[in-house]
Amino acid sequence: MDLADLRAAFAGRLLADTDAMAPHLTDWRRKWTGRAIAVAQPDTAAGVAAVVRWCKAQGVAVVPQGGNTGLSGGATPAADGRSLVLSTARLQRIRALDPIGQTITAEAGVTLQQLQDTAREAGRLFPLSLAAQGTCTIGGNLATNAGGVQVLRYGNARDLCLGLEVVTAEGELWDGLRPLRKDNTGYALRDLFIGSEGTLGVVTAAVLKLFPLPAAQVAAFVAVPSPAAALALLAGAQARLASELSAFEMLSETCLQLVLQHVDAARRPLAWPSPWYVLLEVSSAQGEQAATEAIEAVLEAALEAGHASDAALSASLAQFRSLWALREDISEAQGAAGPTIKHDIALPIGRIPEFIERTDAALAQHHPALRLVVFGHLGDGNLHYNLSPPAAGMAREAFTALEAPVNRLVHDMVHALGGSISAEHGLGVLRRDESARYKPAVELRLMQAVKQALDPLNLMNPGKLLGTPIPPNNAP
Ligand code: FAD
Repeated sequence: MDLADLRAAFAGRLLADTDAMAPHLTDWRRKWTGRAIAVAQPDTAAGVAAVVRWCKAQGVAVVPQGGNTGLSGGATPAADGRSLVLSTARLQRIRALDPIGQTITAEAGVTLQQLQDTAREAGRLFPLSLAAQGTCTIGGNLATNAGGVQVLRYGNARDLCLGLEVVTAEGELWDGLRPLRKDNTGYALRDLFIGSEGTLGVVTAAVLKLFPLPAAQVAAFVAVPSPAAALALLAGAQARLASELSAFEMLSETCLQLVLQHVDAARRPLAWPSPWYVLLEVSSAQGEQAATEAIEAVLEAALEAGHASDAALSASLAQFRSLWALREDISEAQGAAGPTIKHDIALPIGRIPEFIERTDAALAQHHPALRLVVFGHLGDGNLHYNLSPPAAGMAREAFTALEAPVNRLVHDMVHALGGSISAEHGLGVLRRDESARYKPAVELRLMQAVKQALDPLNLMNPGKLLGTPIPPNNAP
């Protein structure tokens, strides 16, 4: 294919050399690798529109790509080599920051870390926070409706977005960059594009919400006897701390042991092991002493009620960070311990203890040797219900062969308890077909209808999120 017309159509970079393209053709975990005609990196939204128009004219599929940190294969092109990767790496401008309206307008390729830093320099907080924040981009965060550790207090990426600028599948630029907190003038197009994983259009910029910086943040690492006790602690913390409770994470002793084993700096924060732990965080406008007193009151009540057996509170920034590191390093530690089977699931919060009990029991019956590595954002009803080979070891092939039956068992249980098999990582290609297995046919048909209306030629990230169309006469 002659790329000269494309090269002339936009300002920016076009990579067509195999070595230069390579990092864009495989995902973060090197689970998927594809091929592409080229990688386009336009400098402006108008350039993105020009690239999409060229692709439409040539019948070439477009694979939008931000930081390429997604965990579901959504940003990797297919193996047929007939698509173009549209990277937002050069859409790097902060277009506006309004401290009174508490908004920031940023282009899609700005990394989450850059956005947080810019907000902080202006004395404001952009609260979306996740371990890939140094690399993942605002465009990718919106396209996947990313979550992370502060969702309990501030919401996920969708909740943080007021307006969007999007290049449609037609190659038109839609300026929906409205910084309005109230706007009831028709369909919520913004919300359609958020979470659509690049299958409806390319996000080129967004207006995002900012918040006051908290005066103090205090973390507590709490030993709890069971997930049910963790939920009782959550209820107590919510009643006492209200919106000052900014994170509520849970992890098992197995997770802590993995971190202690594989992360050099990690130290056990409490004298005695406990089957489960909670990491809770308070972000206070009143200062450190008020935050500490509020958290102590919650913990006292939990200790008295038997919902907690011990706790450590952070008394400095260094301690705050080291308590958080015990939670944030779990994925890395699990990876260092060998191959993994991972699930990113959401449940009605009150059903989490039942889910853990029933799924643990079913796995113990069918696959007794596997190690359960269970942690997650309990306050959001989001668990990472992961598995590792037994500590004594297991052949990699034998472990990998268990992935499909284990996924089925876990996801069937999630579905039976009214949950979702993808809480914050999207569907991509990883969970596309499994999601279709559990969704009602009418919901799948509505999604197909939206895709058909906005991208009739199926050129925007085809094969991601949605599988083959459901026949129209399928029973609801
Ligand atoms: P990419 O990986 O480049 O793309 C992801 C999807 O979005 C693809 O389908 C792509 O086509 C589409 N896309 C990207 N940019 C655009 C655009 N501008 N317009 C339209 N579509 C676009 N996720 C969480 O939610 N919570 C976590 O706690 C979390 N922790 C993580 C920790 C690690 C160590 C890693 C590696 C990942 C983690 N993730 C987490 C997953 C990942 O970081 C998020 O999904 C993130 O939002 C992806 O952003 P990105 O810029 O890397 O997108």
